[in-house]
Amino acid sequence: MQERPSIYDLSLDEVESWLAVKREARYRARQVFRWIYQRRVSRFQEMSDLSECLRQTLNSEFRVEPLPCVRQTGSEDSTRKFLFALPDRTFIESVLIPASPALYGSAADRKTICVSTQVGCAFGCKFCASGLDGWTRNLEVGEIVQQILRVESLSGEKINNIVFMGMGEPLANYENLLKAIEIINAGWGVGIGARHITISTSGLVPRIRELAEQPLQMRLAISLHGATDEVRQKIMPINRRFNVASLVSACAYYRERKRQRITFEYILIDQVNDRLDQAVELSRLANRLEAKVNLIPYNTVEGLSWKRPSEMRQRVFLRALRRNGVDATIRREKGHDIDAACGQLRLQVIRDKSFAASDNLR
Ligand code: SAH
Ligand code: SF4
Repeated sequence: MQERPSIYDLSLDEVESWLAVKREARYRARQVFRWIYQRRVSRFQEMSDLSECLRQTLNSEFRVEPLPCVRQTGSEDSTRKFLFALPDRTFIESVLIPASPALYGSAADRKTICVSTQVGCAFGCKFCASGLDGWTRNLEVGEIVQQILRVESLSGEKINNIVFMGMGEPLANYENLLKAIEIINAGWGVGIGARHITISTSGLVPRIRELAEQPLQMRLAISLHGATDEVRQKIMPINRRFNVASLVSACAYYRERKRQRITFEYILIDQVNDRLDQAVELSRLANRLEAKVNLIPYNTVEGLSWKRPSEMRQRVFLRALRRNGVDATIRREKGHDIDAACGQLRLQVIRDKSFAASDNLR
C-alpha cells in the first residue's frame, strides 16, 4: 500500500533482525523503541543517541509520522472521539471513554480507549454504522497501535484499558490484531497488561477457539444481541454461519482454557430483542458460562429504522436477568450526544462530500 512500512508495524525482534542486516548492534532496537514508545518522538532525526547514518537509513526505510487526526468531538470529561485519516484516504475512529466503572474492570479512574481494527466491516450487523458501507481493508499493525499513542498525545491522558470495539471485526484481522496486542502489551512497547485488553467479536467461532490457545490473558467480549437463532440472525447475518449453540460452545472452551469470565454484549433494540423470552434465554446462556452481561441501549444510526426501547422496558429486561442470578449492568452511553457508537463519526464524515473533498485530509 505504502512504499515504506511504518516502524509501528514492527516488533522488537523484527527491528533487531533488520539491524543485523545493516550490520548495526542489536541493542539499538531497544533505543529506537524507547524513543517511539516512551519518549514518543515522531522523527528519526530526534533520536539523538543513534548515529546520523542510522537515523538516515531508518528514515529512508520506515515511516514514523503520526496518523493525522482530522476531526475530534466531545469534551474533556466525557467520551471523546477521534477521526484519523489513513494514507489511502480512508478513515478510522477511536473513542476515549473516561472513568467507566461499569464497562470493563472495576477501577473508577480507568481511561478506556475503543480501538478500530478494520476500515469498514464485512459482517453487516443490522444495528451497526461500521458495516453500512461494507468492508474496505484490514488495518496494518501500526495503524492499530498508533490509535493508542495518538489518543494519548491528543488528549493528554494516560490510557490504561483497551477495548477492541471500534470499527471492524478484530478476529477477521487476526494476525495483525495479535501482533498489535504483542506490541501494546510488551514492556518495550506500550506496556499495557493483557488483562486490561478486551477483544470484542461478533462470533467467529474458529478464531475464538484459536484465541483460547494464545498464552496472553486478554479478555473476551461477545456481541450476542440475540439469545436464540431466530432473533440473532435477524440482527447479525454471521449467525447463519456460526449459530448460537456453536458460539456458546466456543465460549465455554475459551473459558475453560483461560479460566476467565466472558462478557456478553447485548444491545437492547425496541421490539426486536427486548422481549422477556429473550431475557430468559439470555439468562440460561449467561448462567451456563457464568458470563457477565452488558446491556447497551441501542443508539440510533442514520439510515437504520430501529429504535431504543423506553427506560422502563430496559429496566424490566435488566431486572429479569438479575432475578435469574445473572451479573448484568446497563451501559449508559455517555456519548450518545456525539454519536458514541463506533463507526458513526466516520459515517457522517464520509457522507459529507464537502469534507471528503477538502484539504483536511492532506
Ligand atoms: N466487530 C466487533 C467489534 C465491534 S464493536 C463486534 O461486533 O463485537 C461492536 C459493539 O459496538 C457492539 O457490541 C456494541 O457494543 C457497539 N455498537 C455498535 N453499534 C451500536 C449501536 N447502534 N448502538 C449501540 N451500540 C452499538
Ligand atoms: Fe462489524 Fe461488529 Fe459492526 Fe457487526 S457489530 S457490523 S461485526 S463492527
